[in-house]
Amino acid sequence: MKDHKYSPESQMMTYGYKPELSEGAVKCPIFQTSTFVFKSAEEGKGFFEIAYGLREKKPTEELGLIYSRINNPNLEILENRLCLWDNAEQCAVFSSGMSAVSTVLLEFLKPGDLLVYSNPLYGGTDHFIHDFLAKIGVHTLPVMPWDTKEEILKAIDNSGHADRLSMIYMETPANPTNELIDIEMYVSIAKKYRTKGQEVIVTVDNTYMGPLWQHPLDLGADIVLYSATKFIGGHSDLIAGALLGSNELIGRIKVLRTFLGSIISPNTAWLMLRSLETLKLRMDKQTANAEKVASFLANHPKVEKVLYLGLLEEGTEQYRIYKNQCSTPGSMVSFDIKGGEKQAFEFLNNLSHIQLAVSLGSTESLAQHPDTMTHAGVDPDQKIKMGLTEKLVRLSIGVENSDDLIWDIANALESVAL
Ligand SMILES: *Cc1c(COP(=O)(O)O)cnc(C)c1O
Repeated sequence: MKDHKYSPESQMMTYGYKPELSEGAVKCPIFQTSTFVFKSAEEGKGFFEIAYGLREKKPTEELGLIYSRINNPNLEILENRLCLWDNAEQCAVFSSGMSAVSTVLLEFLKPGDLLVYSNPLYGGTDHFIHDFLAKIGVHTLPVMPWDTKEEILKAIDNSGHADRLSMIYMETPANPTNELIDIEMYVSIAKKYRTKGQEVIVTVDNTYMGPLWQHPLDLGADIVLYSATKFIGGHSDLIAGALLGSNELIGRIKVLRTFLGSIISPNTAWLMLRSLETLKLRMDKQTANAEKVASFLANHPKVEKVLYLGLLEEGTEQYRIYKNQCSTPGSMVSFDIKGGEKQAFEFLNNLSHIQLAVSLGSTESLAQHPDTMTHAGVDPDQKIKMGLTEKLVRLSIGVENSDDLIWDIANALESVAL
């Protein structure tokens, strides 16, 4: 037989599943069980040694099934399939995006360490850093998307904790403004501070682009993170998260996950396997729709400015990063409406198909007002610096007919009194 490397979109239907182990069922059944039977006591002992990190796995050895807080077939197949999109050695899935966030921060940071992070961050992540990590004595240094490499190096050196820099954490594109952060630049900063005794882990929350259009591991990042609630789940019907990276790093993460107990249920894993089969189809259609919506908005007299990667101006630094880092502009569109909160609310209240809700990346289109909703808790000075004003509306574009979406948006804009 000839060899052919199948693309991830084709492998989402079958990869990692053996029908002969499940009565020939074409689809993976839900393994709704809490525990698994060992063939012998020796086998059980071996599995626990690996699961608890008591010894290294032998080259040919596989971790067998033990207990559904540690592993389960639905979960393992899901993790193997997620690895394909990001070209990762290993993946760990979690009961929420936030459990992926808190687990990665807890595994690689200890009291006295320094965390450098790019602002703005997802609200929950920001809260965990300031409310919990600060309490246990982790030092934090925020940087802004427009800070230059020289400025960031200086800030780290002046922090008094440069020798304890342990993690650089970022989200790109930034939510809700679509500002891009240069992953390769942060990787080069991490390399500068990495010594024999000090690891500096670069973690990228890639939720906003999903696993298709931006691949942080290929750009040198150590760990990529997803709220799988968004594009991966993609139907607004589940909560989950994922971390991907090397066998070594994700192996450590899985040991901590076992003891924090934040694994997903077999049922949620099964739903995600179903979602993955249409991930490429959905994201292609969402992106095509978003491009049409963005260009409609860009030409509308009641719209001041559209923040969309597909409308970046050639020759700018943001455009350079975009070309290097992303393969499409994605499906998140933000815009400033002319006027202020009153006009933004009138627009939102007059949409008839697009629903007024937070979250993103799903089949249905959603709209929200970041200033008073998702980003209500962000420091007002910082909001101004980020360009997050009361005029800003964020759209997550779904898979509907694009003419219907544009009709709905046009109609809602018409009802806005300037
Ligand atoms: C939603 C989200 C999270 C948190 O994920 P949950 O699944 O809601 O716990 C983290 N980061 C980003 C960028 C998100 O959009």
